[in-house]
Amino acid sequence: MNVARRKFDTLIIGAGGAGLRAALQLARAEASVAVVSKVFPTRSHTVAAQGGVNAALADPAADNWHFHMFDTVKGGDYLGDQDAVEYMCRAAPRVVYELEHMGVPFSRLDDGCIYRRPFGGQSLDYGGDQATRTCAAADRTGHAILHALYQQNIAARTHFFDEFFALDLILDDGGYVLGALVLEIETGLPLVIEAKATLLATGGAGQLFHTSTNALINTGDGMAMALRAGIPLQDMEFFQFHPTGIAGKGMLITEGARGEGGYLVNGEGERFMERYAPHAKDLASRDVVSRAIATEVREGRGCGPRKDHVLLKLEHLGAEVISKRLPGIRDTIRTFLGIDPIEAPVPVSPTAHYTMGGIPGNRYGQVVVPEREGAEEPIPGFYAAGECACVSVHGANRLGGNSLLDILVFGRAAGNHITAYLKETRYHRPLERAAVEPALARLARWERDGDGESVDTLRAELQRVMEDYCGVFRTEEVLAEGVRKVAAIEARLRDARLRDHSRVFNTARIEALELENLVEVALATVTAALARRESRGAHSRIDYPQRDDVHWLRHSLYYRDGRRLDYKPVRIKPITVEGFPPKERVY
Ligand SMILES: Cc1cc2nc3c(=O)[nH]c(=O)nc-3n(C[C@H](O)[C@H](O)[C@H](O)COP(=O)(O)OP(=O)(O)OC[C@H]3O[C@@H](n4cnc5c(N)ncnc54)[C@H](O)[C@@H]3O)c2cc1C
Repeated sequence: MNVARRKFDTLIIGAGGAGLRAALQLARAEASVAVVSKVFPTRSHTVAAQGGVNAALADPAADNWHFHMFDTVKGGDYLGDQDAVEYMCRAAPRVVYELEHMGVPFSRLDDGCIYRRPFGGQSLDYGGDQATRTCAAADRTGHAILHALYQQNIAARTHFFDEFFALDLILDDGGYVLGALVLEIETGLPLVIEAKATLLATGGAGQLFHTSTNALINTGDGMAMALRAGIPLQDMEFFQFHPTGIAGKGMLITEGARGEGGYLVNGEGERFMERYAPHAKDLASRDVVSRAIATEVREGRGCGPRKDHVLLKLEHLGAEVISKRLPGIRDTIRTFLGIDPIEAPVPVSPTAHYTMGGIPGNRYGQVVVPEREGAEEPIPGFYAAGECACVSVHGANRLGGNSLLDILVFGRAAGNHITAYLKETRYHRPLERAAVEPALARLARWERDGDGESVDTLRAELQRVMEDYCGVFRTEEVLAEGVRKVAAIEARLRDARLRDHSRVFNTARIEALELENLVEVALATVTAALARRESRGAHSRIDYPQRDDVHWLRHSLYYRDGRRLDYKPVRIKPITVEGFPPKERVY
């Protein structure tokens, strides 16, 4: 088959907040930039972000980036790299004001300043009183941000490939990334996009789990592309379960609902978070609240006929606060539960939400691979930003409001670094036809005829397995079984078949390719989880309940080849300030 080719300076795969923020930086610097997205850009998952974006905006006495940095390091259970955390927290006010100037309609305080709400794990004075740091546009912050970024990119003449599915990176023999093979979904035709620099910004992998807040498109495609290109994935055992998904369904009720004063009760009507986090209560870190709910349910104090959830009480906030600050949440609850949170409490349970792990990167957005003991080498011209990357700022557990911040700060940083890289990289590296073959083969494999299992069955099974064998609480036995089960699904997937081989808008083909990606990422997740014999952040081992800094204060690296694990040290030293050494984590 003759495959068409296009050439740009930069190829960005993903049009969520990370991809669009990077593209904007590049387009404004007059680089030719192509953005590929499998859905129309403003349908990316960033659009669903509700609660807000963290920035210590107040006068420095009341709140400052150093408090924010402390909370982020502690929230991540000391696994975050502190140079990157410092960089992000210091940059926060700037990226938020930039958004304001781009036209993001933030909610306002009476004095006209950007409205901020309290969120989980936020404090003043290094663990003191609750801070109020999450800048919000009602409960539709991600929607406002994504639309503003898209419009700015249109104005700056970014070139969009809407509804193109990226299949795989194209590499040369030296391991340089030359671009990617993509598939135009409308026509089913492949296209090679060549670039001097390639940025992956493909978002998370929440579709690994049956109950999830994530969009159907969050299938970890970029992570799997990196794995197939020989790049390891970092810290995949850390998957965040959000405490308040609609019970049994998974749609998110933002932490902002508790930030505005909502609280949780168990089947006995008790405000149980007071027992688990006497100080922060319902606004403790997400891992803490999710475990508390799971424990209440396990010990028989759940609500409902099956005692399988708890209740989120919002009624006392009153109709005015709910309508003004949480309108989207009220809509979601009315649509999916048929109740009004102004009148009745909301059944909630923990649900899969955020991929802390991802493609290893540094604070310039460069993808890095381990060189020698302790040292890392960036791969020239290859970048990752946003939820698909692991910088690592979130460590073992992300704080609410820090992901929108992450995508803006590191999207922008990657854009700047690529701009500099392009200045010294005048030519494209030669791309031989043979380099495209592995990616084309991946496509061709689904053209086989005959009988085989369906993609839908296998995906449903994978999501159940991950939920049951790699959930909130984990043990050696259960995880080992999980690895076996996911590996068995991987083997069965090799013999799966498509029934429909048509070219035009064949979504079944896309779903098959997505499932291949999910399985790769599932293997990374469950393998890394089995190996980590401690409890840290979102990774809770019943058989190893303590955090073990002596053996496990290190990042994991999972390689596809041989399903091998390696480890690298955590960077405890920030850029300009003293580091925060690991301490016991209490809220
Ligand atoms: C319901 C919900 C609410 C949230 N609320 C908040 C919040 O209030 N505050 C906060 O800080 N964080 C929040 N988060 C987390 C945060 O929204 C995400 O982590 C963040 O938006 C991810 O941005 P991204 O740019 O990395 O990826 P995404 O926005 O997920 O975008 C990924 C992009 O990659 C493209 N893509 C993926 N695979 C391919 C492929 N194979 N080919 C082509 N294109 C591809 C997609 O089309 C899309 O454009 C929330 C998350 C969810 C699910």
